[in-house]
Amino acid sequence: YNIERERKWAYWFSKEACRLNNIQKAAVIGCGFVGSSIAFTLMQSGIFSELVLIDANRDKAEGEAMDLSHGLPFTHPMDIRAGDYDDVADCALVIVTAGAGQKPGETRLDLVHKNVAIFRSIIPEIARRNRDAILLIVSNPVDVLTWAAWKLSGYPANRVLGSGTVLDTARLKYLLGERLGVDSRSVHAFIIGEHGDSELAVWSGANVSGISLDHFCELRGYYEHDKADEWLQREVRDSAYEIIRRKGATYYGVAMAVERIVRAIVRDEHSVLPVSNLLQGQYGIDGLCMSIPAVVGRNGVEDTLEIPLSPAEREALRDSAATLRDVVDSLEL
Ligand code: NAD
Repeated sequence: YNIERERKWAYWFSKEACRLNNIQKAAVIGCGFVGSSIAFTLMQSGIFSELVLIDANRDKAEGEAMDLSHGLPFTHPMDIRAGDYDDVADCALVIVTAGAGQKPGETRLDLVHKNVAIFRSIIPEIARRNRDAILLIVSNPVDVLTWAAWKLSGYPANRVLGSGTVLDTARLKYLLGERLGVDSRSVHAFIIGEHGDSELAVWSGANVSGISLDHFCELRGYYEHDKADEWLQREVRDSAYEIIRRKGATYYGVAMAVERIVRAIVRDEHSVLPVSNLLQGQYGIDGLCMSIPAVVGRNGVEDTLEIPLSPAEREALRDSAATLRDVVDSLEL
């Protein structure tokens, strides 16, 4: 029992900690492929009544706001406009997608120095005007940048989260659903660790509506589990490379993953999602942001869940952490 941890939660879960923010207002910083797709998805979901778009290229933000606004008669009334950092002051949620994307052949970790420099300019601008928001980081490498955003903002860790492996988990569920001929929403499985090359699937807990995955596969006539697991994990890991090679960027899938996380926060759903968040001793990993399943609600990450892992999965998670540790240690923040 940790009294300090209890006190910290009690404060950040109190109404006082959230009183300054307008839960119906969000900002999207970075309006490229990913930011504008997120804005499009959020506009259609009707979650917010105000959405502010901010980009280093003001024309781009204005153009996106105009284009999106012209679709409002077909959805829910709301205010979508280009803005600047003063507009962030009362936002309950700030979604950061600014930064360079991967070029063909580039890994997410290759982006680190460019995007950390961009975060050094963006995050203090937000934190200076708003101490109470939730920061949702999407730019890559998302785990390193979530950690950088936590450091640069001075926010408590529960209010700084990254989209993490929510998208990778969706990719795994989709592929399993396709292979097994079953609704992907009935597939329960997680990709955890780095959102990147060292991520891993938690096969030991995977199931289809409570039926263990291996058993369900056998019911559908598939018996070579190890071979299939290896293939699926590779497909998930390489999805972004394959999409980038064909169309230059990925954005629709991540936009829907972000909408799912945003909905869990704004509607206080307490949903279990593998977002990236600061680990503080879980699985022996400390002081790094990476994805393990977490309870997500109005206060951001309300709990991180140390789910059972097989010895091989534990080792793979520790390897993933070591990959991130090398990068984080090379940053002076
Ligand atoms: P993009 O180049 O289309 O857009 C980036 C935008 O950021 C541009 O409009 C640019 O003007 C803006 N920007 C750059 N510096 C800025 C600053 N200092 N302040 C404000 N705006 C700034 O790139 P994209 O395809 O939209 O990708 C954005 C990021 O999202 C990349 O890092 C990419 O790797 C990442 N991404 C993450 C996921 C995920 O699952 N987490 C998925 C896809 C892409």
